[in-house]
Amino acid sequence: MKAVVCKNSQFTVAERPEAKPGKGQVLLKVSRCGICGSDLHVRKHCDHWGQIMVRSGYRSLTSSGQEVVFGHEFSGEVLEYGRDTKKFLKTGTPVVALPALRRGDGIDLIGLSEHTPGAYAERTVVEESLMMPIPNGLSPEIAALTEPMSVGWHALCRGEVKKSDVAIVIGCGPVGLAVICLLKARGVKVIIASDFSAGRRKLAQLCGADVVIDPAQESPFPDWQRFGFVPDVPGLLELAVGTREKLGKLPLPWWHVWRIAEKLGLQPKRPVVFECVGVPGVLQSIIDGAPQFARIVVVGVCMQPDQIEPSVAINKEIDMRFALGYSPLEFRDTLHMMAEGKVKCEPLITGQVGLDGVDAAFTALGDPNRHAKILIDPASASTQPA
Ligand SMILES: [Zn+2]
Repeated sequence: MKAVVCKNSQFTVAERPEAKPGKGQVLLKVSRCGICGSDLHVRKHCDHWGQIMVRSGYRSLTSSGQEVVFGHEFSGEVLEYGRDTKKFLKTGTPVVALPALRRGDGIDLIGLSEHTPGAYAERTVVEESLMMPIPNGLSPEIAALTEPMSVGWHALCRGEVKKSDVAIVIGCGPVGLAVICLLKARGVKVIIASDFSAGRRKLAQLCGADVVIDPAQESPFPDWQRFGFVPDVPGLLELAVGTREKLGKLPLPWWHVWRIAEKLGLQPKRPVVFECVGVPGVLQSIIDGAPQFARIVVVGVCMQPDQIEPSVAINKEIDMRFALGYSPLEFRDTLHMMAEGKVKCEPLITGQVGLDGVDAAFTALGDPNRHAKILIDPASASTQPA
């Protein structure tokens, strides 16, 4: 079967041995596969990322001398079942799957390990337990976005975002755009997005951002008081002392009222800021711009050491959370939200290519103004993303 093989940062379209589904596994015909930012990174810097993964106990990330077939954001059709499978879907059923595969004692990430080739290929193998039918006739193009959209949904879950929240998305690459789409689907009241690229700001608008900001022109952080947030330390002192003074006028012990208010969940409002850039310095700029109690969800993957000044974050009691991947339930929920038309992610797809166009697509993705997500269609002969 045809596949795009990456070795020492070079792509070749090669004939590879037919993929075989093992125990509990299923062979898929690949319909579409998205090119992920992590694929771009692994192509050039897999050894560095591999070292970082080893520090987290994962040893199967590809290294530069190895052959790897990328592709972890895919849709496909059921072709053939391996042994010990339940075969709950008929051959030909359109499906998506979480990109993880059992191998011996461990689990490898599909498309990021030499042992588990991904979907930059005509066919790929998935775990039956992680495979899901695509509902409602959702197109294979949109279904291929289930994986990156799940990353966005998981970030919202980590941020415990409510409808009444103000959400700020810093960086509108594919990850930021996914977060914006999901914030919109969640019904979040105010979505502010920021990116230096005009093309990405346009996409942010199409994905549902209410306010789109060019950070070269103005701060992405609004007038916090206008939204009812405590803007700074003087505001915090006023809140503490002022609340005590007000409660002193009630005919009840102030500490009882305060405790009841806390039990009822009454607390100062705070925005949720999504860091979707992953470049050194961004975290500190968010800490500097955020109001008291802000929650920061870090989704952008910064591969270099970064510096923050904890004292500024302490002054604001910043709540910082990091997000990785998604759970199988979040993946399924995202797929169904997409199939029900709640997640409008069509604007993300800015091009499609065949297997012979992968190299050109990687080059094209270097221009943030033009492209967000390029899909690979293994049945297409297209050599340029269009
Ligand atoms: Zn990805």
